[in-house]
Amino acid sequence: MTVPSPQLSVVIPVFNEEAGLPALFDRVYPALDKLGTSYEIVFVNDGSRDRSAALLKDQFLRRPDVTRVILFNANYGQHLAIVAGFDHSRGERVVTLDADLQNPPEEISKLLAAMDAGHDYVGGIRRTREDSWWRRIASLAMNRVRERITRIKMTDQGCMLRAYSRDIVRAIAAAQEVSTYIPALAYTFAHNPTEVEVAHAERAAGQSKYSLYRLIRLNFDLVTGFSLVPLQLFSMFGMLVSVGALATYLVVIIQRLVLAGWREGFATLWDRDILAFFLIGMLLFGLGLVGEYVGRIYQQVRARPRYTIQAVLERDGELPRAP
Ligand code: UDP
Ligand code: MG
Repeated sequence: MTVPSPQLSVVIPVFNEEAGLPALFDRVYPALDKLGTSYEIVFVNDGSRDRSAALLKDQFLRRPDVTRVILFNANYGQHLAIVAGFDHSRGERVVTLDADLQNPPEEISKLLAAMDAGHDYVGGIRRTREDSWWRRIASLAMNRVRERITRIKMTDQGCMLRAYSRDIVRAIAAAQEVSTYIPALAYTFAHNPTEVEVAHAERAAGQSKYSLYRLIRLNFDLVTGFSLVPLQLFSMFGMLVSVGALATYLVVIIQRLVLAGWREGFATLWDRDILAFFLIGMLLFGLGLVGEYVGRIYQQVRARPRYTIQAVLERDGELPRAP
């Protein structure tokens, strides 16, 4: 016997969240029970090295009717954890949520109300943001960059409290991208997206799982994953530099011929050392940028499985829906 698909799936990636999981369980189940729709919660344990997996197993035994747990064998990152959750979810609508209670589960009803109004993708906008000041400033800057170089219109790219229709979830699962940014990817598939304001809280327990390095990596996923502008900018810059160099030559030649007096002042402008440092810096940056795209192509052509699952805990044990 197959269990009928629930109306709602809630996908929650979990990485080393043992400190916060009990509080999450205490809030997310009552919030969803109150909605009055059939639901399932799909937890994806992203290779936690603490007791998260054990806590998830206990919770599965407590609420096997609405709980499913996917256990990765290693840490693949939040976005691949969500992809795996999508692959295994069965609901007509899928909501993603962070495990640290920064996204209040009580806000899910707002997203669903927007879907009732006919939207196929609903993004959250954090009304106030409870993160460190440098994260807020960096986000602001990255939001601007993304706005300019991609066609994605999204107010708050970092908010993971979002609702997706089954069609979009299917498209994301089928996209087979190795390193991706789900909220942005969803925009390329959505035909009637919208955004709603949601609350945001401080992390309930534990620490952020994103180090500065991982944040930078994530932003490369966002930028180079969705835009070729950085590469094109680079050739633009190359052309500018060549034209500038030609102009400089002209100036130098003219100056040497007629205006020997300017020499001292202008000489610094084409000081070879400064110019060389600057140009070498740009060159290295450009090389890295090309490497960023080449690396993506390399990962993609290797066509390895994006993640490997150690075990899936679910009641009926039926095979997951094909993406
Ligand atoms: N997460 C994950 N894998 C990772 C990093 C994070 O599954 O490699 C999960 C984490 O458990 C949490 C969510 O992604 O549920 C957001 O992470 P976090 O709260 O650390 O990010 P921040 O709020 O600081 O951006
Ligand atoms: Mg968080």
